[in-house]
Amino acid sequence: MLKIALIGCTGNLGAQTLSIVRRYPEQFSVSALVAGKNAEKLAALCEEFHPKYARLASDGHTMSEEDLDALYDCDVALIAASGFSGLTYTLEAARRGKRIALANKESLVCGGELVTRTAEQYGAELIPVDSEHSAIFQALGMRRDAKFSRLVLTASGGPFLHFTEEELKNVTAKEALDHPTWKMGPKVTVDSATLLNKGYEVIEAKWLYGADLADIEAVVHPESIVHSLVFFEDGAALAQLGYPDMRVPIQLALTYPARLPCAPQLDLAKLGCLHFERLPAERFPCYGLALAAARMGGTAPAVMNGAAEVAVNAFLAERITFPQIAEAIEDALIRIPRGDAESYEAIAEADRAAREHARRFVGVE
Ligand code: MG
Repeated sequence: MLKIALIGCTGNLGAQTLSIVRRYPEQFSVSALVAGKNAEKLAALCEEFHPKYARLASDGHTMSEEDLDALYDCDVALIAASGFSGLTYTLEAARRGKRIALANKESLVCGGELVTRTAEQYGAELIPVDSEHSAIFQALGMRRDAKFSRLVLTASGGPFLHFTEEELKNVTAKEALDHPTWKMGPKVTVDSATLLNKGYEVIEAKWLYGADLADIEAVVHPESIVHSLVFFEDGAALAQLGYPDMRVPIQLALTYPARLPCAPQLDLAKLGCLHFERLPAERFPCYGLALAAARMGGTAPAVMNGAAEVAVNAFLAERITFPQIAEAIEDALIRIPRGDAESYEAIAEADRAAREHARRFVGVE
């Protein structure tokens, strides 16, 4: 019986994780649940799954050592919390040498150096849950230290892929939330529409697989069937394919290196053609900004992320336009001095400064 601490249990990823637990009650149990602010849903999940420990993050209590011991008394910590707050959970799990099924992007985007160093120091395993990084993990023979020459992340391109710059000025939050192939939370769905998400995934790949930024690229693949590819020195490429279904990478992160029945297999003849095209980075500046932040290094990616979280919320609240999301990020990156990102405190301070700056930029004090 594998004991799962599910951190971020009320969102989309949490729901899919729990559907796996329901399907295999003999294999999995839920030892702890953490929710953001949905108390009602947390209570209902506690009633169903009987975790030994549950926590509502928004109640503001700092966790005691006893709380932490109870939360991390598990075989796998699945970090599905969204946003910057996921980083503290990932770091604590790393310090405790846990297997970490990592679905929180911000942990590696903002704290990649610190998280990977801490995991190595305490013998924690980092298993990617994001579909692209899981695909790469599988193509590398389920190893993070395998040799390769190039990583290619696939991108659906989001709902505005072929929009002109003029058209992008008028897109609404509702249109941005209507993703063509994946069902996800609001922040990551908007990030998919701006292609910021793909920039985040380049940074995650850099830390997960020790890749140079120059050896990671993204290509548009509208069908979301090929989940990413690895190229090797001899020209061979390996990819992982499947219908877009997050249960597959979630379940593999739990059962690795074993597999269990999960999703329908591809019907290749029915599928017909698969398409690939260049990523139109010139119309989606968020992608380039993420790469620029990664090249700047230190706390720059944390600044980018803090500004992005504020800007995306402002866009969802119809306070700013779609192109202004990129403007808010760029402004924060230019104006907030970058420091080194060797401690959590330094990263959190960069995040705080970026949010404060971005709030002024979008007109919310
Ligand atoms: Mg992804």
